[in-house]
Amino acid sequence: MAEASNKGQKTFRGIPVSAGVCRGKILVLGRGRPSVAKRSVPETQLPEEVNRLEKALIQTRHQILDVQRKVSNLMGAQEGSIFDAHLLVLEDRTLLDEVVRVIQCEKVNAEYAFHTVAERYASSLAAIADDYLRERATDMRDVTSRVLNNLMGVETEVDLRNLKEPCIIISHDLTPSNTAQLDKRHVLGFGTDVGSKTSHTAIMARSLRIPAVVGLIDASSQLESGQYALLDGFNGVVVIHPTDQTWFEYGQIISHQDSLQQKLRDILFQPTVTLDGHRVLLSANIEQAADAAEVKANGAEGVGLFRTEYLFLNREHPPGEEQQFKAYREAALSLKPLPLVIRTLDLGGDKFLTNMQMPAEMNPFLGWRAIRFCLQERDMFRQQLRAILRASAEGNVKMMYPMISGLDEVKQANALVEECKTELRSLNQPFDENLEIGAMIETPSAALVAPSLAKRLKFFSIGTNDLIQYALAVDRMNEKIAHLYEPTHPAIIRLIKLTVDAAREQNIWVSVCGEMASDPILVPLLLGLGVNELSSAPALVAPVKFLIRRLKLSEAQELAQFALSCESAAEILGRCQDLARAIAPSLFEDK
Ligand code: PEP
Ligand code: MG
Repeated sequence: MAEASNKGQKTFRGIPVSAGVCRGKILVLGRGRPSVAKRSVPETQLPEEVNRLEKALIQTRHQILDVQRKVSNLMGAQEGSIFDAHLLVLEDRTLLDEVVRVIQCEKVNAEYAFHTVAERYASSLAAIADDYLRERATDMRDVTSRVLNNLMGVETEVDLRNLKEPCIIISHDLTPSNTAQLDKRHVLGFGTDVGSKTSHTAIMARSLRIPAVVGLIDASSQLESGQYALLDGFNGVVVIHPTDQTWFEYGQIISHQDSLQQKLRDILFQPTVTLDGHRVLLSANIEQAADAAEVKANGAEGVGLFRTEYLFLNREHPPGEEQQFKAYREAALSLKPLPLVIRTLDLGGDKFLTNMQMPAEMNPFLGWRAIRFCLQERDMFRQQLRAILRASAEGNVKMMYPMISGLDEVKQANALVEECKTELRSLNQPFDENLEIGAMIETPSAALVAPSLAKRLKFFSIGTNDLIQYALAVDRMNEKIAHLYEPTHPAIIRLIKLTVDAAREQNIWVSVCGEMASDPILVPLLLGLGVNELSSAPALVAPVKFLIRRLKLSEAQELAQFALSCESAAEILGRCQDLARAIAPSLFEDK
């Protein structure tokens, strides 16, 4: 959305997805894409159309594998694996059979049939209010345009690897394959009309550390190549023809950011310790085994949450014991001797298996989810437990159950673990006999019965993302009630305190792995309440560490005391902000 302002300066506002500020000439991509014409094809030539389609699919597959190989070599396995979703589109039998049916029944050319069917699929995915599925629509459009280019013999319009001069790319959409090809020396930043924080393109931008803004709505149709612009990936702003005043303000922001990045680099491998000597364990959350390799480079001291369900998504069949064992062991090995906390399957809610019949539920977040699902789908659960147990032979693995709502679930799950241990012993399969097992505290009931749970477990990990949604009855996915989703609500503070007290009583440790642990403003409150470990999003480990190293535990405890006696979420948040800004102003200067 554009805002006019003085002296021809124009500001477009979107969603910031990759931090940093850049300035330079704009290059607008994506104009004048050749249209896909409908052609009637005589009956006798229909087999040839199907043949052309098949050839284009094979050619596309080779191209994607090629990009995937390059990206994996350049940026690592995790980024490369983004293209697995693209390869899956090419193998989608329902889609391809439908395209062949349209060619044969409507007697039309392959590109028209492919474009029509794929666009229908992509539009229905894009219309679903679910970030994950919307991103699958982007994947589908990425693959579709490659297939169409191959069918029509069109070269990709701009070779992003061979740009002649530095520029800011503006485009309606930038596909993950485009993003992966961006030449960092020449691409200063990019902005797109569409996209979300969790889209693969955004993830790529962060990993390449290129400033980026998405959701600019119509910027690509309003802007022209060659215009001068400033792109602010902190605040989600693109300014065209900036005035001298804007240049001046941003000059200051850029130099603050450069000096902040330097400060963060300086403390990256320093211990996470408060000014008064209190040691905090600062870990990172991961979604894939391959991410574990990056954890140390981000300054973290282990993995506090490995969300294993991502191993199960996006594939035709769930991974078996052996496949899971390899993934868990790979993560354990790359972290060794740092700890790895593996969370058992948290399917349901917003995460479903592709090929498993999960009944539609009125309230999926209150339904057949996580440990509830596992305690009924016992074969699948046992396979995972055995795989985790076997990986625990590496010595640095811990395991935890998600969405525990009462003691009975812990007892049932622990009994299954004991059965799996007996099986492994009889097969002479090694595992860690002292594997520490914990539970996530993410339902209010779990926090309230924490004293009973603490007697049967070795640690708690507070999942504030869900704890807030369940305690305040606020759907974490619904933007209409996002204002009610308040981490500093007095009820949340008390539930965290109950959990910490129960853990202390039994001498077990408590971590927070929800997003509260990634927010430097809220971290002092968590530490003041007595939390021992924080597990943050990898990119936020450094800012969180920076803040902790400037904090005194005594200040954090005073803040927690105030929060426990305060009746207002806004007042508690205000105090948190005051403290964080006072001790680490450079983290907040440009926000
Ligand atoms: C949480 O609920 O805080 C959590 C860490 O789990 P997830 O976000 O995977 O539900
Ligand atoms: Mg959760």
